[in-house]
Order: sequence, then structure tokens, then C-alpha cells
Amino acid sequence: MSFDRNLLPDPVAYYEAQGLKLTGPNRAKWKTTECRFHGGSDSMRINTQTGAFCCMAGCGARGGDVLAYEMATSGLEFIEAAKALGCWVENGKPQAITRPTTLSPRAALELLAIEVGVVLAAAAMARQGPLTPDNFDRLLTASARIQGVQREFA
Ligand SMILES: [Zn+2]
Repeated sequence: MSFDRNLLPDPVAYYEAQGLKLTGPNRAKWKTTECRFHGGSDSMRINTQTGAFCCMAGCGARGGDVLAYEMATSGLEFIEAAKALGCWVENGKPQAITRPTTLSPRAALELLAIEVGVVLAAAAMARQGPLTPDNFDRLLTASARIQGVQREFA
């Protein structure tokens, strides 16, 4: 049983699945969005590569990755938040798949949005050249999760 950082959702896909609009130049590593912790409309900076977030209005909201954001917004403990994001692995399989009954329809939709983002990102990368083994594994994981949701709700 362990947390697998490689299974964390893509930061952009994750934050967009939370309904946040990320603004800023296309190539910019840090994007701007609303801070839901204190209600600021454009004070939150999000790192699109690491998922780190930091409120520039000084409300104290900050963290190093999407897991920290998930914990801060949901109030879940580390392990529960990791399970919610599908990056808590037991017996070699992400928990969100092996225990689909824990998925509410809303959580399933969010999971789908995140994993579809992963698939699209992989498709974009594949146009530049062969996927690395890590990225290919992540693509397979996304595919398995999408099929898992389909099996549960079909
Ligand atoms: Zn704030």
C-alpha cells in the first residue's frame, strides 16, 4: 500500500476538472485563477507542471501539488485524498479502480475529465515522437480507469 506520485493527474486537467479557468500565456509555466480559499477572483497562481498552487493575496493557501490542493479543498486526509485521485496503490492497482463503489457519479465524472485530459496529453506527445515508457504506462492507467468507470455505470 503506497502513494504513487506517477499516478497523480495532470495538473491542468485536474484544476480544469475542478471548474477553474487557468489564464495566462500559452507557454507560461504559472497560470492564474480564482482563489477558492478566500474568494479572490484572480489571486491564485498554479504551476502547470508540478501542480503547485499559491495565493498571492496572502490568504495562506499554498501547496506543492494537486494532492495538497485536493486535501485543502476536500478536507480529506492524505491517504483518502490519494485514493480520491487514484494514486493510492494496493496490490499493484490504483484504489479508485479496485473499489469503484467509493465513486459517486460526480467523482466518476471528475475522474473521467482528468483521465481524458491524460489521454489527450498523451496523444499530443505522441505526435512529437514515441511516448516514454513512463508516459505510456500512465496512458494505460488512464485507459483502465476510464473503462473501470464505464463498467460501473454502464
Ligand atoms: Zn487566497
